[in-house]
Amino acid sequence: MTIVRWCLLHAVVLGLVSLPSAGQQGHAADATGPAAAHRDYPFKPVPFTAVHLNDVFWAPRIETNRSVTIPFAFKQCEITGRVANFVHAAEALRGQLGEKDAKLPGYPFDDTDIYKIIEGASYTLSVYPDPKLDEYIDGLVAKIAAAQEPDGYIYTARTINSEHPHAWSGAHRWENEEILSHELYDLGHLYEAAVAHYQATGKRTLLDIALKSANLLCNTFGPGKRAIWPGHQIVEMGLVKLYRVTGDDRYLKVAKFMLDVRGGPNGSQYNQSQEPVVDQTEAVGHAVRATYMYSGMADVAAMTGDARYVHAIDAIWENVVQKKLYVTGGIGATGAGEAFGANYELPNLTAYNETCASVGNDFWNQRLFLLHGDAKYIDVMERTLYNGLVSGVSLDGKSFFYQNPLESNGRQGRSPWFGVACCPGNITRFMASAPGYMYALGNNALYVNLFGGSTADIAMDGRSVRVVQDTRYPWDGNVKITVDPGQPATFAIKIRIPGWARGEVTPSDLYRFERPEHTQARLSVNGSPVPIRLDKGYATVDRQWKNGDVIDLNLPMPVRRVLANDNVAADRGRIAIERGPIVYAAEWPDNPGHKVRDLMLPDSNKLTASFEPALLNGVEVVKGRAVALSYDANGKVLHKEQEFTAIPYYAWANRGNGEMVVWIPERESAARPAPWPTLAMMSSVAASKGGNRVSGEGIRHYPQAVNDGEEPKSSDDPSSYFDWWPEKGKTEWLEYTFPRAATVSGVQVYWFDDTGRGEVRVPASWRVLYKDGEEWKPVQNQQPYGVDRDRYNKVGFTPVTTAALRLEITMQPGWSAGVNEWKVDK
Ligand SMILES: [Zn+2]
Repeated sequence: MTIVRWCLLHAVVLGLVSLPSAGQQGHAADATGPAAAHRDYPFKPVPFTAVHLNDVFWAPRIETNRSVTIPFAFKQCEITGRVANFVHAAEALRGQLGEKDAKLPGYPFDDTDIYKIIEGASYTLSVYPDPKLDEYIDGLVAKIAAAQEPDGYIYTARTINSEHPHAWSGAHRWENEEILSHELYDLGHLYEAAVAHYQATGKRTLLDIALKSANLLCNTFGPGKRAIWPGHQIVEMGLVKLYRVTGDDRYLKVAKFMLDVRGGPNGSQYNQSQEPVVDQTEAVGHAVRATYMYSGMADVAAMTGDARYVHAIDAIWENVVQKKLYVTGGIGATGAGEAFGANYELPNLTAYNETCASVGNDFWNQRLFLLHGDAKYIDVMERTLYNGLVSGVSLDGKSFFYQNPLESNGRQGRSPWFGVACCPGNITRFMASAPGYMYALGNNALYVNLFGGSTADIAMDGRSVRVVQDTRYPWDGNVKITVDPGQPATFAIKIRIPGWARGEVTPSDLYRFERPEHTQARLSVNGSPVPIRLDKGYATVDRQWKNGDVIDLNLPMPVRRVLANDNVAADRGRIAIERGPIVYAAEWPDNPGHKVRDLMLPDSNKLTASFEPALLNGVEVVKGRAVALSYDANGKVLHKEQEFTAIPYYAWANRGNGEMVVWIPERESAARPAPWPTLAMMSSVAASKGGNRVSGEGIRHYPQAVNDGEEPKSSDDPSSYFDWWPEKGKTEWLEYTFPRAATVSGVQVYWFDDTGRGEVRVPASWRVLYKDGEEWKPVQNQQPYGVDRDRYNKVGFTPVTTAALRLEITMQPGWSAGVNEWKVDK
């Protein structure tokens, strides 16, 4: 770095030199600032502003994102006080904040929701001018500016009440950052939003706020200054974006510093600080933090050439695709710490698969592609995109999943918003920039990574090449690509032949097709067949292109059965259904009796696909015949053949809550026959008031879990339970109303208890009441009311004839209570 360059860079930062406006050039994702001369990724994405989708799949959803989700999410930020937090922080700075407005944010990361939606909205402004939206964002930016402290610090959870900040924030700046405060997490999202806003509008308003804040980081952290690592990563990616747009390498250095300080005695797997980042080889801990960190490492490696980062994220990627990736592309198996599970730990009903983790997984895989130019990363990215990511938002764009499990007993539904609202904002920014994942440039070649009806005007070696895709992808594998280079020009077009079209489910042995059918992809140029010679997953056509040249790609899309590696216990004896890039699910509305968890799909049963234009905004469905299994009164398994329908996984839970399953048993040994209905199972269940709520992550408290006949494996078995959390130390009740009055003489209760993970414990005491007329009376119990873990607590009582039975449960002081299963003895 020469003195001259330093001066120039500081002039840029101080605003003395005007930055080129990428927005005006329409190159939002390009390195158009002074950093363009620096080292960068060897492959460059074609910016989303250059790619206009008009396809059957993404274009309508991107439009829903723009016209419905973004305004809806901004509204939610207003309703929930997220906007007011900035106003109140500004009032506090001016000493004008009244006592009653000094309320702190619910969570210290609530600020990020506004930043993320501004980022998403800015992307839409890049391609769809909207003066009203532009003006609305200007208003938000003014509120954010007013909430920034004089030295650049911005964090409403402290500024609103610096004497008594949020409980997670710590008494002083940064002291809780490695654990709870999320100060740097907020800033990472601010920086990403600022760059998007600047590139979309050419306005420096939000960028200047971000740079002032980033300069504070440069002055605070680094060699010889403070050394902390971000508790929730993302500031690394954000700082690299600031570096790319300004060329000021102090931002890059701070990003790298914050990666390199991870590790040491205070480190933990939870946020990937258990060891130095360059020594990490396994994906562990919180999945969103992990993928944001791996993405930041890719960015810093691309800008600095540090190969140790690349070796680490390559090794971690191998671990994920070999052992920790769901067939839907989701990651983060467990709700305990929102984390990766152990190798091959991929449960279906309790799969966590946070929507944000899917977004992070695609950020990361895109960056690995940009480093290596290998289609295997796009294979993983496409799997996540069409399945475990886009499942995160409903078809109408107004409700969301926080978790994306691969099986449901009806407990989970979509929510319009969450207490922790990270996922909706991430959807808004991802969907708005999705066309930026289609093409890339490098090695004098144009890379066609994704398929979809679209027109792209791609800047390539000083000329603009128009590339038009005509296709019904993902429902049809015929893709016609028309190339218009203007003047004839010689370059290579590299067309990705997806893994699934080459007989490979994932670039690993984690999944495989049951039958390696002959699904030979075919390619022709202007009607003449071209042999496909694969290089890193691409077929290359290197020739002189002239206007109107046509590439025809044919990717056969039979319905296929997928098997998991035998080490994945949850999927043994089961198959998943795929067609093209789409993973299928059987859902309750399409199948007899609204049940799918008791189905079996023998491998001799043929499956066919057909398009249903009126269903779920138009989807290809898979049909065939299945066998429904059930127990009779003597424990014998009965078989009943019936119609079977599966829909694309991403479209589930758009018609209400109920059963859903992705991995379907192929053999009776893996099946889950419907239990013989007992008196308890035929009863209707009700719970006291505290039990009727939806958690911050959109999980319904589900009293029906206690009489679903599902046998718990242990008291902490999370697959099917009911609890009153966060109610603690109270007396609550559960009630069975029998189909008709019955004589009963006992109950068996299996207590839920998540010691080590949550705040539910066996109760302090309990008793059974029966309904006598309109009155509840205690039964005469013949044994004590037991509170043992990991078994049924059986209590006999003097027989009563009654229409309803009630469990009255008194929790331990300071703890909640819950029930896995409740049986009634006649
Ligand atoms: Zn999230």
